Amino acid sequence: MKIIIAGGGIGGLTTALCCLHHGHDVVVLERAAELGDVGAGIQIPPNAMRVFEALGLGGAFDRFAVRPEAIEARMGRSGQMLFNIPLAETALERWGSPYLHIHRADYITLLASALREKEKTSVRLGQEVAGYRQTLNSVTVELADGSELSGDVLVGADGVHSVVRDQMLGADRPVFTGNVAWRAIVPIKLLGTDAPRPTACAWMGRGAHCATYRVRRGEFANLVAVVERDGWTLESWSEEGSREQALADFAGWHPTITRILEKTDRLFRWALFDRAPLTTWVDGRVALLGDAAHPMLPFMAQGAAMAVEDAWVLARELASSASANDGLRAYQSVRYERASAVQARSSGNSKVFHRRTWLGQLATYGPMWLAGKVAPALIHKMSDQLYGYDVTAP
Ligand code: FAD
Repeated sequence: MKIIIAGGGIGGLTTALCCLHHGHDVVVLERAAELGDVGAGIQIPPNAMRVFEALGLGGAFDRFAVRPEAIEARMGRSGQMLFNIPLAETALERWGSPYLHIHRADYITLLASALREKEKTSVRLGQEVAGYRQTLNSVTVELADGSELSGDVLVGADGVHSVVRDQMLGADRPVFTGNVAWRAIVPIKLLGTDAPRPTACAWMGRGAHCATYRVRRGEFANLVAVVERDGWTLESWSEEGSREQALADFAGWHPTITRILEKTDRLFRWALFDRAPLTTWVDGRVALLGDAAHPMLPFMAQGAAMAVEDAWVLARELASSASANDGLRAYQSVRYERASAVQARSSGNSKVFHRRTWLGQLATYGPMWLAGKVAPALIHKMSDQLYGYDVTAP
């Protein structure tokens, strides 16, 4: 089949690779003039790495990424450890694939270079998808410059503000969660003894939480710092914020957090909006994938991982079904429940991370601390369903 993919983000490029792997031809239409992503890190859990290993890309990721030693949880102000349990070896032994941290730009570069090595694919930049129409036999994509392109299937991997989704289901109605995420990246050598350890660390606080980890072979520290706020309207990765505001949001927090905010060149913020699961992801020969289908709050580090799982299933079901429409229906039926469940759990996690009262903190973090001391395997077990899931299994 000829698959047209709207969007060259993590979801779109992975879909292209999975479709080629399953024998389809691919065209990626990306609005931006260059492929790339914002200057921030991203976590790749084992359930997503399994897809890249099936595509033969496991080694390529190892060249760019970091394998965190442990998962940690700490109190945001005192730095008091709630738990620290091993991750690098455990991920391989328990879930069969590594857990990685990577810079987003490296992630996109890696996927794009893997695509460039393939035949029967083209990535067209500066191509903005404006809409689509379809017949029984084909789908035609309408571009903003007035040109058109026809194929067998259109995949809307055009992100949280998807135009493909808007045409399929009408305008989106996101709800502001009252949370804003700051993000920053800093060379480790600028942080001295305050540098975050090479772990996946969640820092809990009253009405706020942070995640720290390392990227670029461990040479940079990455911070995502989420704080509760009123009345935000703009949902964008590229909105810059002031250092004073970020430092005021995290005043009194552990120096590992505040030092990153002090030393970073630029600070960006992303207002977090929540959305209920969509009623459908498929309209005949057109399907939504990744954030276009199930945008989720970043409280489980699974948004892109779900896009990667989607990509494998969509390509496989199109290869094994009698028609494009059947393949896309099968894709939705395999993926909908799992992605919606992760979307709901991500939404629920904001409450766990931001306990406001002393009693609430004790009731939530006390058992975490105890589990880390006496039954660390319990914490690993809680992730089995998520990280141990093998979407590539026949
Ligand atoms: P996008 O990355 O948004 O890509 C969409 C692409 O489509 C873009 O390149 C865009 O330019 C293009 N496009 C848009 N409109 C058009 C159009 N009309 N025509 C053509 N092209 C178009 N996920 C994880 O798995 N792990 C994490 O650790 C993690 N951390 C996160 C931290 C934060 C603070 C946030 C906000 C999210 C995080 N996520 C994480 C979620 C993850 O970033 C997203 O789920 C993922 O980037 C979605 O990929 P996508 O390809 O679906 O969409």
